[in-house]
Amino acid sequence: MNSPPSSTPVSTGSCQCGDIRFELPTEPFASVICHCNNCQKSGGSAFASNLFFRQSQVKVLDPKDRIKWYEDNTTTSKRPILRGFCTTCGSKLFGRPTPPPHHTSLVNDPFFLVSSGAVDDIHLKTGKWLPTMEGFCDPWKRTWLPKKLDGIESFAKPFKIKAKF
Ligand SMILES: [Zn+2]
Ligand SMILES: [Zn+2]
Repeated sequence: MNSPPSSTPVSTGSCQCGDIRFELPTEPFASVICHCNNCQKSGGSAFASNLFFRQSQVKVLDPKDRIKWYEDNTTTSKRPILRGFCTTCGSKLFGRPTPPPHHTSLVNDPFFLVSSGAVDDIHLKTGKWLPTMEGFCDPWKRTWLPKKLDGIESFAKPFKIKAKF
């Protein structure tokens, strides 16, 4: 299933200043909106839009060593997450949830979240990697957002990520 990171990437992306770049050699296995308060604060926006990969599927290019990982220990799901951002421009790029210890496949190759806004060509009107799930709607989803979004399954509380790609 996984192409090696050295193959031609399906997509590329970067932080705003370009010091950190990344290559995505495969499709994400899920595209998820998170309304939790920590995602709102870390991204400075109303919600987070994350693409889910495995760690081995994302090639991070950071020649100037600009990435810093903030350890978020106050998540609603109670699973700590490392949030990776660029120390030059502040763009929030990645998330690495700490896997539960019993789940060996995740220990060896954990989830690796990529902020969809950092992907180079995702703005194109091709319907690329549209979100299929949204979580932590209660109580944080903004009241001005549509209650029901086309093709998106809504969850009030923690939820299990379903692979759609
Ligand atoms: Zn940057
Ligand atoms: Zn969140």
